[in-house]
Amino acid sequence: MSVKTNSWDNLFDVIVIGSGIGGLVTATQLAAKGAKVLVLESYIIPGGSAGYFERQGYRFDVGASMIFGLGSQGTTNLLTRALQAVDTSVDAIADPVQIHYHLPNNLNLKVERVYDKFLQNLAAYFPHEQIGIRRFYDECWQVFNCLNRIELLSLEEPRYLLRTFLQHPLACLGLLKYLPQNVGEVAQRYIKDPELLKFIDMECYCWSVVPAQMTPMINAGMVFSDRHYGGVNYPKGGVGQIAQKLAQGLEKAGGQIKYQAKVTKIITESRCAVGVQLTNGEIYRAKRVVSNATRWDTFEKLLPVEQLPTNEKNWQQNYQKSPSFLSLHMGVKQSVLPQGTECHHIILENWQDMTKPEGTLFVSIPTLLDPELAPEGYHIIHAFTPHWINDWQGLSASEYEAKKEEIAWCIIDRLEKIFPGLDAGLDYLEVGTPRTHRRFLGRDDGTYGPIPKRKLQGLLSMPFNRTAIKGLYCVGDSTFPGQGLNAVAFSGFACAHRIAADLGIKVRD
Ligand SMILES: Cc1cc2nc3c(=O)[nH]c(=O)nc-3n(C[C@H](O)[C@H](O)[C@H](O)COP(=O)(O)OP(=O)(O)OC[C@H]3O[C@@H](n4cnc5c(N)ncnc54)[C@H](O)[C@@H]3O)c2cc1C
Repeated sequence: MSVKTNSWDNLFDVIVIGSGIGGLVTATQLAAKGAKVLVLESYIIPGGSAGYFERQGYRFDVGASMIFGLGSQGTTNLLTRALQAVDTSVDAIADPVQIHYHLPNNLNLKVERVYDKFLQNLAAYFPHEQIGIRRFYDECWQVFNCLNRIELLSLEEPRYLLRTFLQHPLACLGLLKYLPQNVGEVAQRYIKDPELLKFIDMECYCWSVVPAQMTPMINAGMVFSDRHYGGVNYPKGGVGQIAQKLAQGLEKAGGQIKYQAKVTKIITESRCAVGVQLTNGEIYRAKRVVSNATRWDTFEKLLPVEQLPTNEKNWQQNYQKSPSFLSLHMGVKQSVLPQGTECHHIILENWQDMTKPEGTLFVSIPTLLDPELAPEGYHIIHAFTPHWINDWQGLSASEYEAKKEEIAWCIIDRLEKIFPGLDAGLDYLEVGTPRTHRRFLGRDDGTYGPIPKRKLQGLLSMPFNRTAIKGLYCVGDSTFPGQGLNAVAFSGFACAHRIAADLGIKVRD
């Protein structure tokens, strides 16, 4: 393959590999500060797991639909802030209920946006635990209140840490206290009922994909409180709007983004990242390189696996790939949805199946908030459930299609209990597997992201943005604080802040 030679145009301050929300926030923050930034995205549109696709008049979110961080107050509304930094915004539609749970033993509960209403709903099922319920969730608010007082930037930047500590000593000490803690231990301090503890497990599992014992308290403090503060909001026009607007903002701020530009190699010189090479042989050089790919993709595919740095080996001792998902993207007649149906549902019939493939079923119906995503008289239902890539390997094309069909109909049968007439009202169905996630999202094994291999000390061992390779940074859900759009936006703010400081770009520290 011929290697295209460099020109001055191919030299950047920062190259970002991937335009997931983590990559885009890093890029926009740096471009807004005047850095010369290039984003290289292998797919045809930006967003990664927060992207979209269109079929027969439907606009489907590929992954995320329950969006935190689009609120208008405090410091934790990081998506709003990231958009504002490049003079843009999305219209956010407030969701009055975060989740409607359909759980074993008829635990049928709505997490209302109004905090006290949610506590009342839960206490109605567990009246003997009324005080414990309030104490547990109030403790989550303590974490959130600490986070929501400070500007969320790089924890690897000492001057920022010092300034923040001097301005908000109590908030910082509060966060330090919770950093090594997991939700399980805090919940068990207040709650004894085993069924209620299982509910807390599900409250964690549905975004961390591990039970409460392994879910960091910092992340839970954010999710369990922000849903009642900034709230869950849906971007008008679909989740893809967030990435589209960030990409447009990037270009307006002087940055560049190239699509169908798959990076195959991070170029290093003397153990220092200096550029990247694309599949077509083109080379781009930069003072700093940021990878928005997962850590497994970054260190085992874009760099020689035999040179895996020791701290990455250690990280792999602590974290493993979570499963991927099997997704059903459906277009359905309006009549399928009973009056009063909420946007997000979680369905589980047996507690022991919670973490198993096809155990927990996640459902989002974004057209209840934005009807324009589907033709008039129709809705979108996105149903997804954890699945491992290994169960989809080595199949012939016909075996693959048959397996997709078989599992899809099992899921539709389960959904019929909540949406009677779904089968008859089905207008469109497309099934995505872990192979689809791997192919279109560029994620090793289609994983949702890293999960602890065993019980760890909260978020203590989750890496920040700098890596063992000089000039190379990671951003996105393989870095602190983990999965979720608002979480990877946090990672993007932190990454840009650290790089700006390293490059001597003026930052307020
Ligand atoms: C089914 C599903 C449902 C979810 N639901 C929610 C939800 O409701 N709420 C929520 O907050 N979060 C949700 N999430 C999680 C959330 O979507 C992710 O945590 C987040 O979007 C990850 O962002 P990221 O920046 O880490 O990167 P990604 O979204 O993984 O993007 C990385 C980008 O890098 C590109 N890339 C990778 N390698 C290369 C390469 N070599 N060259 C060029 N480009 C490359 C990819 O194409 C991709 O565009 C969900 C995820 C899934 C899969």
